[in-house]
Amino acid sequence: MSFDRVFPPASIPGRLLHWLLCSLVCRLGCNLAAKRRPPARLSRALSICLLSLLPLVAEAQSIRLLRDADIEHGLAELAQPVLQAAGLNPRRVRILVVDDSGFNAFVIDQRAIFVNYGLILKAETPEMLQAVLAHEAAHITNGHIGRRGQNARSASTAAGFGTALALLAAAAGGGEAAFGIAVGTQSSALRSFLSHTRAEEASADRSALAFLTRAGINPEGMVALHRIFAGQEVLGSAHQDPYMRSHPLTRDRIRAAEAYVASLGPGARPGSEPGAVNSPDAAYWLARVKGKLSAFTRAPSWSKRRLQSEGYADVKRMRAAIVHHRQNDLAGARREMQALLGARPQDAFYHELWGQILYENRRWSEAEAAFGRAAALAPNEPLILSGLGRAQLSSGRPGAALVTMEKARDLDFRNATLLRDMSLAYAQTKQSGMAALVTAERYALQGRLKDAGPHAQRATGLLPNGSPAWRRAQDVLIAFEQDEKRKKK
Ligand SMILES: [Zn+2]
Repeated sequence: MSFDRVFPPASIPGRLLHWLLCSLVCRLGCNLAAKRRPPARLSRALSICLLSLLPLVAEAQSIRLLRDADIEHGLAELAQPVLQAAGLNPRRVRILVVDDSGFNAFVIDQRAIFVNYGLILKAETPEMLQAVLAHEAAHITNGHIGRRGQNARSASTAAGFGTALALLAAAAGGGEAAFGIAVGTQSSALRSFLSHTRAEEASADRSALAFLTRAGINPEGMVALHRIFAGQEVLGSAHQDPYMRSHPLTRDRIRAAEAYVASLGPGARPGSEPGAVNSPDAAYWLARVKGKLSAFTRAPSWSKRRLQSEGYADVKRMRAAIVHHRQNDLAGARREMQALLGARPQDAFYHELWGQILYENRRWSEAEAAFGRAAALAPNEPLILSGLGRAQLSSGRPGAALVTMEKARDLDFRNATLLRDMSLAYAQTKQSGMAALVTAERYALQGRLKDAGPHAQRATGLLPNGSPAWRRAQDVLIAFEQDEKRKKK
C-alpha cells in the first residue's frame, strides 16, 4: 500500500478552476462529513511519498491517493456488476481510493471513480457501497462530465491527471472562502453552478437505482446510504459544509429513493426474497477491503480488539499480520502470513502483502521472492509489478527493476511512488533523459507544474526527437507553459 500525495498548485488559474468546478459533478453528499483533519498518522508500514508543501492561495487540502492492488481489486469486484448494468466497461473504469476520512465520492473523467476511504469504512453493507458506485457511474453515463469537460486538458497523461486532481483539491479544500475564489466571487455563477448540480444529482440517483435493480442488487442500499447523510441535516448550518447547504435536501433524495423501492414491490426487489443471501461474494470483498484499509489506517490496538469478530478466516489472518507488522513484530507477522499463504497459495495479493512487509523490514531478497510470486500469479497488475521493481532495485538490480517498472508504468501512470523509483533506476543505469522525464511526470502528477517544467525541458533535450518518451516530455512541457502563461495574465 502506498500513499501518493498530490498537492495543489501554488496559484489557481480562474478559468481552469471554473472548468473544474463545472466538471466536478459528483459530490454525493458533498463532503458531508468532511472535516479538516491533521495528516494521517503514517506508520512505518506504509511507503510514503512526502513532499514539501507549497504556499496555497485558498489554503486548499491536498488530494492523496491510497494505492493498493488488493483494495482496488476488491472494489473492482464490487463495482463490476454495477458498471456493467450502467453500460460501462468494468476494465476501463478504475475505482481509486482517496486518502481522506471524510464521506465523499466523485468523478473527474470517464476513466475513474474516486472514493474516500472514510466512505468505504462506513459502508455497512456491500449494497451501500454499490449504491455510491452506481451514483458515480450515472454521472459518467448521463454525460455530466463529457459535455463539460471538453475544454479540459485530458486526464490521460500524468500532467493532465495531476492538474485535474490538484485543482480538485483546491476547490474542495478551502470551504466557503475557496469556493468564492473559485467562482470569481460571483454569487450568480455560484448559484447557477449549484442549481445545475442539483438537477444532476437527482438524475444520477434515478439512474443509479435503475442500474442497481438491473444488476440484481437490492436498491435499498441507496436508501440506507441517504439515511447516513440525513443525520448531517440536523447540524446547525454553521457546522455544515457550505456545499452541503446548497445541495439537494437529503430528505428529498431519501423520499425519491424510498418511492422507487416501494414501486418495485417486495417480491420484485432483488435480494429481498425470504432467505435470500445477498451476494456472498460482495460481502466477502467488502470485508476484505475494509479489513485491509482499517488495519493500515486505524490504530493497531483498534484492529486487535476487532479480530475476534472477523468472520472470514483469511481476512482475520491478514488483519492480524498487519497489526503485528505495524507493531514492529516481524516474527508475529511471519507466523500469520505463513498460515495465510498456506491456506491461500494462489492469492497474488496476499503474496504482495508479504512482499511489502518483508520490504519494509529491509529483507530485500525475501521481498523480491514474495513479490515475484505475486507477479507470477497476477502478471498484469501494475501495483504488484511496481512493488517487485522496487524490491529488485533495492537488491541492486536496476536493469531488471526497469524492465518490471516500465511494464507497470505502461499499465498505470497514476503512481508517484513508482515514478520516483524509476528515476533512481534510470539514473543508476545512466539514462539521464528518461530520469528527467519520469521526474517531470512525477511532479506533474502531484500538481507541481512549476517544478515539472525544468525537468521536462531537460528531458526533451536529451531524448530522441519524436520518440514516445520525447512526446511524453512534451505533454508535461506544454502543461507547464500553459500554466506559466495563465499566471502572467
Ligand atoms: Zn453526485
